[in-house]
Amino acid sequence: MKAIQLDGSSGGGQMLRTALSLAMVTGQPFRMTNIRGKRPRPGLMRQHLTCVKAACEISGGTADGAEIGSTELVFRAGKVRGGSYQFAIGTAGSTTLLLQTLLPALWQAEEPATLALQGGTHNPMAPPFEFIDRVFLPAMARMGGAATVTLASAGFAPAGGGVLHASIQPSPKLQSIDLMTRPESGESRIRVLSRHLPLSIGGRMLDSALALMPCKDAAVESCEPGPGAGICCLVEAEFGELREMTSSFGEQGVSAEKVGRHAAKTMLDFIGCRVPVGRCLADQLLLPIALAGGGRFATMAPDAHVPTNIAVIEKFLPVRFSIRKEERGVHVVEAG
Ligand code: ATP
Repeated sequence: MKAIQLDGSSGGGQMLRTALSLAMVTGQPFRMTNIRGKRPRPGLMRQHLTCVKAACEISGGTADGAEIGSTELVFRAGKVRGGSYQFAIGTAGSTTLLLQTLLPALWQAEEPATLALQGGTHNPMAPPFEFIDRVFLPAMARMGGAATVTLASAGFAPAGGGVLHASIQPSPKLQSIDLMTRPESGESRIRVLSRHLPLSIGGRMLDSALALMPCKDAAVESCEPGPGAGICCLVEAEFGELREMTSSFGEQGVSAEKVGRHAAKTMLDFIGCRVPVGRCLADQLLLPIALAGGGRFATMAPDAHVPTNIAVIEKFLPVRFSIRKEERGVHVVEAG
């Protein structure tokens, strides 16, 4: 079969992960050039390479160019098999992004699968574990995609060393979704997760988030014991059966107050936009919707992940996306 040609220069690791998922689901091989072409350190990093190797293992596939720094990759999948797998990223690279790469393929397998993934579970620029558990997987469950996750140990960047367990049930046919309106808001909740840092830092972060977004269910949780210091602020809000979570991560040189305010402010922006789907969930819904054969949702102004992810999906599947801008910053993404 002729390989689908993809140019990865317009996006990041997500273009590669989406291509791996779709190559496993459809059986079509691909060649991607210019992988992460415009990133400061282009090519495959440890977390992307682990996605490639894991895809080879679960699908009996083969890859050419599967090396750190490689900017070109050819991947051919075989038959995806469930079962029990363990993958260690070896750095703080995101286990949640690795899970999202494997999930669509393992839903197609005949047998259930369990995964033990080692690496980062709370990384900036990736879904934190709780986002997967409380936002992404519930959205997948609405579409008929069955999976559960548990956190054995949190892994913060740069140390990593976290462990995420996933259990995936065969879910061969995803159903389309129509998420155009947002129910009234219900409970909200703020958590600061902290490890190897003075409690006062977590307290300041929480107070700053609460000052912008008061809520009764708010706490600092200790993630001891575990490797490496780290701290993050998770802000969650319920809207009927829907949920959104925003997050921000502690960094050297950035005050605890700024981190707390950032997570709360991002949630307030979402609440103000009155859409059901947040900016991060938006790009993560594209692939499941395409696999379902269509669907639509209203979201905020999409970021660059949306067009680059759509470009990859449309190369593999006979589905076409449109993005329509409506009033008050609402954008409707539709596929069919
Ligand atoms: P690169 O290093 O090349 O930029 P990457 O492998 O880190 O790539 P991206 O291509 O940037 O990954 O994709 C990151 C993914 O993580 C996107 O799906 C994005 O929506 C998601 N994401 C980032 N931050 C959050 C967050 N705070 N909450 C939920 N999801 C997030």
